[in-house]
Order: sequence, then C-alpha cells, then structure tokens
Amino acid sequence: MRKLTFKNGIHPEESKVSTSALPLETILPKAGLEMVYPLVQNTGAPCKPIVQIGDEVCLGQKIADSEAFVSSPVHSSVSGIVKGMRKALTPTGVIADAIVIENDGKNIKWDTLKSYNDYTLLSKEEIIKKIREAGVVGLGGAGFPTHVKLSPPPDKKIDTVIINASECEPYLTSDHRALLDETERVLEGIRVVLRIFPDAKALIAIEDNKPDAIEKLTHATKNENSMEVKSLVTKYPQGSEKQLIYSCLKREVPSGGLPADIGALVVNVDTLIAIERAVLRDRPLIRKIVTLDGGAVKNPGNYRVRIGMSYRDFLEAVGGLKSEPAKMISGGPMMGVSMFSLDVPVIKVSSAFLCLTADEVKTYTERNCIRCGKCVSHCPMGLLPYTLNQNVVHGEMDEFLKNNGMDCVECGSCSYVCPSKRHIAQSIRSTRRHRLEQMRRGK
Ligand code: SF4
Ligand code: SF4
Repeated sequence: MRKLTFKNGIHPEESKVSTSALPLETILPKAGLEMVYPLVQNTGAPCKPIVQIGDEVCLGQKIADSEAFVSSPVHSSVSGIVKGMRKALTPTGVIADAIVIENDGKNIKWDTLKSYNDYTLLSKEEIIKKIREAGVVGLGGAGFPTHVKLSPPPDKKIDTVIINASECEPYLTSDHRALLDETERVLEGIRVVLRIFPDAKALIAIEDNKPDAIEKLTHATKNENSMEVKSLVTKYPQGSEKQLIYSCLKREVPSGGLPADIGALVVNVDTLIAIERAVLRDRPLIRKIVTLDGGAVKNPGNYRVRIGMSYRDFLEAVGGLKSEPAKMISGGPMMGVSMFSLDVPVIKVSSAFLCLTADEVKTYTERNCIRCGKCVSHCPMGLLPYTLNQNVVHGEMDEFLKNNGMDCVECGSCSYVCPSKRHIAQSIRSTRRHRLEQMRRGK
C-alpha cells in the first residue's frame, strides 16, 4: 500500500506505547457525584438551560439548547437532580455558565432512547436532525457541530469523505483503540455519512504506526465498495484537516475556504461512533473516549468517561496518581491546554488528559531569533512563522493578516523545532483566536 503524506511537518517522539495495547474501559460516575455541564463545549453559539434547579432529570435528557444553527445541545450523562447553575472552568481554558446535576446512581433513561432504528428508512434530513438532536460535534478538534458540517451548501459537491484516523499527536491513542475495539460501530457511522453523500467514497486514513488498525480495517472493509483504507506516513500534523486532505487527495483547501470547497469532508473516528449511537439508537453524546497517560499516572489507558465528570473524579476512579505531576495537559502535548486544576469537567472535546513528570517536561528560556529558518522549513502551511511572531510582538495586525497568519493551523511545529525556543506558535495562536473572535462579532 502506497503511503501518503503532506509537505514539511515534524517527527516528535510518539510516546504511545503505554496505552496503545490496552482495550477501552468504561468509567461510571458514583452516586452522589456532582456532574458539571458547561453550556459552551464546542464551536458555535452557547446553549441556554431548559431545566431548572430542583428538576429531576434522566440519563440522556436534553438539559440545554440554542436556536442558532451553529450550536449543539447538551444532555445529562446521569440521572439525578439539578442542584444549581454556576460558572465553570472548562478544559479549553474558557469560563462558561454550567448546569450542576447530582448523580442519583440509578441511570434512569430518558424515554426517547431506542434500541435500534433502521437508518436506511430515514431521509437525509431526518438523519441530520437526529445527529443535531444528539448533540454530536467533531470530537477530534474544536468541536464544530456535525450537523452543520454534514449540511454543505448545495453547490458544494462532496466526492470524498475522509475518516481522520491518523491520530498524530504524541501520547493520544483513543482513536487507535476505537478502531480496534469498536470497528463495527465506526463502519456503521461511515455508512450513515455515506447515506447523506451517496456519490462519495470514504477513505479511512490511518498513520502507519498503527499496523494492527490498518490490517483490521482493511479486512473489515473488503466487501465495502465505497470504503478504502489509506496508509499515511507517520508525521505531525498529519491529522490536521488541511494536511490530511492534501495527503489523501493532493488537493489544497483555499486560504479562508473550507474542505467542502474542494469536494472533501473530514470526520473523526469517535465522531463516527457518536453518529452511529445518535442515528441508530437515538443516544445523545454523553460520553467521551479519553486517553489518560503520563509518568505521574498510576493506570494509563483509554477510558470511556461520562461528560460532566470532573478530571479529579475520573482520575480517582482509575487509581489516581503515583507521583506529583510537573505539568497537566488537557489534550496532546503539541496542541493541548495546560491545566492548573482538577476540578474541571470532561466535555465533548476532551481527548486526552496527561499528567507528566518533571522528566517528561522540558523547560527552556526563550532567546533571540538566530534566523536559522527551521520554523519556515517545517511549517506545514508554508508560512513564515518567525515573521508572524515579529508581527505579533510589534502589534502589526495588518502585516499579520497580509502574511497569512489566519492560515496557521496552530500545530506548534514551529515552536517545536526552534533552537531559540521562541514561543512562536503560542503568539500566533492567541493573535489568530483574537482576530477570529473579532470577526465573529462583526468587527
Ligand atoms: S505557523 Fe502555524 S501552521 Fe506553521 S508551524 Fe507554526 S503553528 Fe504550525
Ligand atoms: S526557528 Fe526560531 S531561531 Fe530559527 S528562524 Fe525560526 S524563530 Fe528564528
């Protein structure tokens, strides 16, 4: 099988061995635990509560929603009583309004949860509605609502659905395990998406450091005419949407454009499982597969964790820490967010929780740029990271935009290779996000 790749990129240490061979495990919150549901868990408009303090709620019941198209409802992942509404810090660093529910431990199910739907009897619109009502968002990144992604404008013809199974971030193995342990659900999720795009072909793109997943999926799809497994060179950031599309199709997403502009749609592995649950069984998104790893953790692994459970309760349920971590990260070490508290809930876009020891965390002092050009030669977007960094330092927003700073995919490769350890990616990321927020507000 020919291996596919993109331009530039880096090869960070993979650090996946401690979890990649361990099957998925399910963690259930204990009775009496407080579950916290932020009303902002994904890209799009915040939700508003549709329950009140003192209400009894069921497992899977919708508790918050929004009328905005780009939004996604929130569901309770336990049965219990609404104890309060308060501000909560999320693992993405955002402080959001949140609903607090005390788990009664009874798991009383909401009455719309079904055992099976024949999705082939549903129209495309009905399928998309079920995905929206289940609160499904992209589970591999910023959490863009999946029903929006699956509704491109009519003039955008999708010919390829790429299944993003590259999982290029160091430490992360949750998609790898999902491919191995929930193969049929992933395939059902793909069949549902292909029902929305009947003329498209699905490419299941897996990095070549997961030969067991490539073999299993190749075997499982041997009779599927519309699916093909593609082997990717293991290189970071292979899983970034634009790089993945280039690797698979040699097409470039135009600056400021979307994958649909070039006929492609990218869906993450765990998102496909959420689609399968939503469409076939009317199950909302109430759990997330999270990789727990790092030298300070007693029992690394991949866990199905109920959304709303705090990282503290999650950690305690799987054996806790064996030493004091020097750094905690929500997500991977390249694109994740440093955490300073364990009293933060698992949300829809939680992908990993790393508790790293001092040996695993290198600290450096930032020095002057020596114009070596390494950041340029490794940038997968072909940008000039040192120039963008200078634009940020000098507050030159117009120059930042002219130098295509908004095309940055925030991969962190430039900072990783910089011998002067300049905080290039961090500076570009914060400026880019500030600008995106301005654009969202129409400025
Ligand atoms: S400038 Fe952006 S896209 Fe380029 S290497 Fe740095 S973080 Fe990645
Ligand atoms: S890698 Fe670092 S030192 Fe080299 S040009 Fe880029 S910013 Fe300057």
